[in-house]
Amino acid sequence: MGEKNLKISIAHLYPKLLNLYGDIGNIITLKKRCEWRGIDVEFEDINIGDKIQKHDIYFVGGGQDKQQEEVADELYRQKDFLTEERDRNAVFLGICGGYQLFGHYYQPHDKDRLNGISLMDAYTVAGNTRFIGNVTAKTDFLNPETLVGFENHSGLTYLQGDTKPLAVVEVGNGNNGKDGTEGARFKNVFGTYLHGSFLPKNPHFADYMIKLALEKRYNEPVVLPSLDDKLETMTHSSLVGKPY
Ligand code: GLN
Repeated sequence: MGEKNLKISIAHLYPKLLNLYGDIGNIITLKKRCEWRGIDVEFEDINIGDKIQKHDIYFVGGGQDKQQEEVADELYRQKDFLTEERDRNAVFLGICGGYQLFGHYYQPHDKDRLNGISLMDAYTVAGNTRFIGNVTAKTDFLNPETLVGFENHSGLTYLQGDTKPLAVVEVGNGNNGKDGTEGARFKNVFGTYLHGSFLPKNPHFADYMIKLALEKRYNEPVVLPSLDDKLETMTHSSLVGKPY
């Protein structure tokens, strides 16, 4: 990339409603890991009633069913724009409730179905068990391969078509506690059930997202300078394989 003044823009969608278990920590991680490398970060909170503008990275956190209902309507109204952004290879990360809305629908117990925005070929139905606990999952594209985090959901997510799992569960439940998958990815859209928040404990995935976003923005390969991740790596390693 040479000495370009690199820039990246990040949108946090509906932080006042979907921000369970400190999901704001994912935004802080993305911002700091850019700033520590001298990458300028433009940042925007998108709240109910705001029109979503073009960004390099879009983030949606998790929340209770009630907050999910409110956000689902807002996202659905902007589905066409967000689909164009997906097809432009913008980077998306959805956590739990946010992730569920990236699929076709979320069907709660004895309530109306919530329309998703179909960024991914997936759907979620409410289960009878609440999955709560630590998760270790293994990817086939990161180094280290593992992702760690905390899950708290009753929704069961099933992937279809070209939407592939983000990782394979080694500890915990993941998407549905049955098929051994955790999270999902399609193009540059990523979803995961890992709260906690997710990215501070998985800095290698944060860097993967930043790299994708810069390569899309500048249309050339990007090699991110490494950071001193001793603390993050120690935290990550201490959680790998731990059920509680
Ligand atoms: N309400 C959804 C569920 O329980 C999502 C919960 C969350 O975002 N933690 O599956």
